[in-house]
Amino acid sequence: MNIEGMLRYQSLDREINKLNEEFKAHEVTKQYNKYMKLYRQTIEDGKRMSGAVGEHFVNIDRLTKQYEKLLADIEEYYKGVDEITDLKQADYYEKQLLKLDAALESIEKELDNVRKELAKLDADAKAFFANANSYYQAVKKFTPEMEKVKLGIQSKAREVMLAQKEIEKTIEPELFEKYKKAKEIAKFPPLVPFDEATSSCMGCGLELSKDIAAKLRQDGGLEFCPNCNRLVYKQ
Ligand SMILES: [Zn+2]
Repeated sequence: MNIEGMLRYQSLDREINKLNEEFKAHEVTKQYNKYMKLYRQTIEDGKRMSGAVGEHFVNIDRLTKQYEKLLADIEEYYKGVDEITDLKQADYYEKQLLKLDAALESIEKELDNVRKELAKLDADAKAFFANANSYYQAVKKFTPEMEKVKLGIQSKAREVMLAQKEIEKTIEPELFEKYKKAKEIAKFPPLVPFDEATSSCMGCGLELSKDIAAKLRQDGGLEFCPNCNRLVYKQ
């Protein structure tokens, strides 16, 4: 097994990681990310706001229909008032009308509240458009600088990856596949030596089981650590 080659490949992975870190830590990238995040949040707020506006209009529609129905009911009762023949009946009509009036008043209040909510949302919407626009302008301002930084770092990373391609040709596919798997799930570095003296993984320090340790003591021993998921090799 070409462990030496695999370790050289791993050290180049470390260089690529450093380049990624360099990109993330760059002031321009930070500014770009900051405004992009604010912009996205504002857009999400805007979506919620438009949902709330929609709900209010649904409410206005429902309340208006209830209001119209009550008005029609009241009209019906007034027609009935003309035909009242005794006092008991008059009393009944009067009570019914009072009830309808109270219902009408409560709907008016509800409609008023919805209108107030809408006025507040209107003010929020104005603030939303101002914010969204200023964040968008900031993102636009930082984009060319960020792209420049990105291209510079990408061209450095490309050189490293070309060197890795050359090394890859000298590595057994089985070893390479195992390395890739460990790289996906374990912390860096994915390939670590076996400490024969203590029978432990030198990535996390776990004392490996007798079974795994025995396999690792054989020539070309290569096992995954059950604790940190790194690929452990015999030195
Ligand atoms: Zn481990």
